[in-house]
Amino acid sequence: MANDTHPLVSEPILTSELQSKPRSKLKPALFIDRDGTLMVEVDHCHDPAKVSAYPGAAEELARARSLGWANIIVTNQSGIGRGYFTVEQFQAVQQELLRQLGDVIDGSYMAPDHPDNPSARRKPAPGMLLEAAVEHGIDLTRSFMIGDKAIDIECGRNAGVRTILVETGYGKKTAECNPDHRAPTVTEAIGIALQSA
Ligand SMILES: [Mg+2]
Repeated sequence: MANDTHPLVSEPILTSELQSKPRSKLKPALFIDRDGTLMVEVDHCHDPAKVSAYPGAAEELARARSLGWANIIVTNQSGIGRGYFTVEQFQAVQQELLRQLGDVIDGSYMAPDHPDNPSARRKPAPGMLLEAAVEHGIDLTRSFMIGDKAIDIECGRNAGVRTILVETGYGKKTAECNPDHRAPTVTEAIGIALQSA
């Protein structure tokens, strides 16, 4: 399924599709959690007025893109599954974040599932990363997952990418989850990923 804009829900994919492109044509990706990682954590944020992207993130994402990386947001939004807010409210928040960051995001993936009834898309399952890999031609072996919770790190591991835990959001409270790297903020985390290439 082609997505020129930011897809929220994608068609199920066959993992065999991941093997269908020669690796030389694939690009590495930064898979980045949204709340507490790219923008200040606000519990179940559904108000665009409360959106605040972390300083420096936009510039570092632009640098990543200029070096050939894809920048992909992957976010669990159980507030939808719990009935706290609607998909439309989620989209309003997302659009405000994208506006603040500028044109640096290649795709956005969201899992609305209630934690008691998770699909293969809800982190820590790797579904959203695998979808993005097909849709954006991503080489998972050269990619990173950046997030502030253990489920982000587990998700990255489940998708076969390297992982970076940030200290923003819930990061400082996150129990030991064996990330490949730790970084104070997403800006430093992106720097670590780009240096690895
Ligand atoms: Mg988070």
